Parts: sequence; C-alpha cells; structure tokens
Amino acid sequence: MVKQISLLGSTGSIGTQSLDVIRAQGYGVFALAAHSSVEKIEAQIAEFHPRYVTMVDPAAAARLRADLAGMADAPKVLEGPEGLVELAKMDGPDVVLNAVVGIAGLGATLAAIESGHDVALANKESLVTGGHLVTEAVKRHGVKLLPVDSEHSAIFQCLQDTESAKSLTKILLTASGGPFFGMKQAELAGKTKADALKHPNWSMGSKITIDSATLMNKGLELIEAVWLFGLPPEKIQIVVQRQSIIHSMVQFSDNSVLAQLGVPDMRIPIQYALTWPQRCPGPAPELDFTQLKSITFDVADDETFRCLAACKRAIGKGGLAPCAANGANEEAVRLFLEDKIGFLDIGRLVEAVVDSDRFGGSYTLADVYECDRMARQFVLSHL
Ligand code: NDP
Ligand code: MG
Repeated sequence: MVKQISLLGSTGSIGTQSLDVIRAQGYGVFALAAHSSVEKIEAQIAEFHPRYVTMVDPAAAARLRADLAGMADAPKVLEGPEGLVELAKMDGPDVVLNAVVGIAGLGATLAAIESGHDVALANKESLVTGGHLVTEAVKRHGVKLLPVDSEHSAIFQCLQDTESAKSLTKILLTASGGPFFGMKQAELAGKTKADALKHPNWSMGSKITIDSATLMNKGLELIEAVWLFGLPPEKIQIVVQRQSIIHSMVQFSDNSVLAQLGVPDMRIPIQYALTWPQRCPGPAPELDFTQLKSITFDVADDETFRCLAACKRAIGKGGLAPCAANGANEEAVRLFLEDKIGFLDIGRLVEAVVDSDRFGGSYTLADVYECDRMARQFVLSHL
C-alpha cells in the first residue's frame, strides 16, 4: 500500500519541500490545503491528483472551482478555516503534515489528532499556543506527533533509543543566531524588512525568517521542545551554532551528549517525519566534511533579542502566556512586514504583552483564541 499524505500549507516553503520528499518516496497525496495561492495549488493538483483541496480564502476557492470545472478527476474544493479543519479530519491519509503558518494551524492539528491521525508537525505555533490541548489529545487518542522542525527532529532522532531516552537530563537546542547575530540594540534599531529577510543558512517563509532575525523563532522552539519532550525550560539550553550543521543535541544522566548533523536542508527532517521509524534515501545532499572548516558555538544574547527573553518568561509563567507572546508576535511581524513598525518594536511589544497579565491556569480552545485576539489587540493599542 502506498502511504497517503494530507498536506496542509502545501504552497509554502515547507509545503513545497514536503512535495519534493513525497515525489521522491512515491507517496500519494490524499489532500492539499493553502490560503490563497491558486496558481501554485493548480500545478500541485495537476501533478499529485489529490481527492480534496481546501483554499482557506473563499474568493480563492471560488477561482479554483471555476478553473477546475470540467476537469476529469478534479478534487472537491472546500473553503474557509472550517474547510481546513474538515480536511484535517478526513479518513484516508496515513499522516497529516501540517505546514500552515501561525495559529491558523492549531484547529487543524487538533482536528487531525482527535480523528486518530498521526501528525507530522511543522506548525510549531500549534504547540506554542495550545500545547496543553495538543499533548492531551495525543495521549487520549494514542497517535504519534512527529516533529518536522529541524531542531526537534534532531532531538527526536537522538532519542530513538528508548532506554537512553529515559535518562535524558538536558536538551541543547541549537540556533543559527540569524542575520543579526552579534549586534546590539543600537545597530538593530535601523534594520529594515529587507535586512531581516536575509537569513544566512535557511530559505524559509517570510514570517519564520523574521522570527529567526528577532530570535522569536528560538523562543517558540524552546516552548515547542518543552511540550514535545517534557523537560522543564531550565533544562533546555540554547546554543548558537552559526553554521546550522548540528541541528540539536541531547545529554543523558552520564553527561554523554548525542547530536544530529546534516546539511541545512529541511527535506531531511520532513522525510524523517514521513518515513519514521524507517530511514530511506532522499533528495537532500550529504554533508561534505572536507568542505566544513569549523563548527562554532556561542551564547544566545537574550539581553539584546528581547523576543527570546519574553518567550522564556512566557513558558515560565505557563498557562496562556506563550499563546499571548505568539499572538503579539504574529501581529507585530505582520506590521513590520508592512513597514508600519521598526525591528525593535517587535520585541518591545511581545515583551509588553507577556508582562501585562499573569496568564496562569488551565485553558480551553476558546480561551486560546480569545487570548490570541486580546494579544493582537494589545499590540495595536501600544504602537
Ligand atoms: P510559508 O509562509 O512559506 O507557507 C505558509 C503556508 O501556509 C502556505 O501554504 C500558505 O498558503 C498557508 N497559509 C497561510 N495562512 C494560512 C491560513 N490562515 N490558513 C491556512 N493556510 C494558510 O511558511 P513556511 O513554510 O516557512 O512555514 C510553515 C510552518 O513551518 C510555520 O509554522 C513555520 O514556523 C514552520 N517551520 C518552517 C521552516 C522553514 O524552513 N520554512 C522550518 C521549521 C519550521 P498561501 O500560499 O496560499 O498563502
Ligand atoms: Mg527550527
């Protein structure tokens, strides 16, 4: 039987690299979803013949339906955030790969898990905003949550020996440091969108590229790691590894450290999530150690990069604090990409939201969305 995948966020950076892996492995595509990139998804439909497609933007869904009219074996087209959730619930795929950006992916992650699907998760915001709900649902439904984020895949790969995994004492979460590594606030003040969109090692969607420049991405990944691997935040040390060759490391009770290495190519962690527990030849090139001059380590500067400091505080507070940090960041990054606020405003606003409330206690999905709405409102009223 050919493995079937439902791919949410198929037109993005992770989505298209996932299709490279799916093509190379000869997997089938049960369903695709995106927001509004009609032309891109039409090319994907022509190649992969999914049975269902969701366009979250209703106008884009209408255009797609019109374009597909009369096509033999055309997929059924769903629309809206409800259409994304409906697609995530459908029986048919062996795994649902969620590569949507932002909290917009949370509902689909939960729906897929609650329908008994294994989920390959690139959408880290699902765990950041609703970590408690997602991990509870995974336990209740007995499904697998397979990390796609390269650092979390590295940690997951290092923990495959279940006997060793029991004595995990520390995670060393690596960070590239982003394009502004080594700079202080005075230099960062004038950084523009064009400066921030130039990542040294990875080519990614615009939101995560800005998150990498502010180190928000590492803060989100710290929170993601707490939920995935069950260690408290003080046992997760962030280590700057400028070349992005070591994708993360784990330490055991005997102080032995294991690392996972490879070229910075997301197709390796994407493929591992899809082929797990097997390993297979894939499209990513091998790491050439003769070309590798050095592997360096540095400390992450959260005095300068306030988003990272804010995320550490948010996971320490618990409850909805990480959700608030995420919502504030999504709104601030949107404003930064529209040239409406400066680079340092992102950290200022995220930190201010985290400090604005205690955020403690348990929460429902409705609470998550309300907290997200309030965090965005807070940002808009503190510009
Ligand atoms: P992109 O911006 O490149 O792609 C985002 C995808 O999500 C697109 O298919 C987009 O559709 C779709 N989308 C956008 N908004 C919505 C919405 N409201 N509802 C449904 N779908 C939507 O992002 P990336 O691929 O870079 O990132 C995706 C996720 O993976 C993020 O959570 C990111 O943090 C994570 N990640 C990314 C890495 C990378 O290398 N890129 C590495 C590790 C993690 P459309 O094209 O129509 O707008
Ligand atoms: Mg990552």
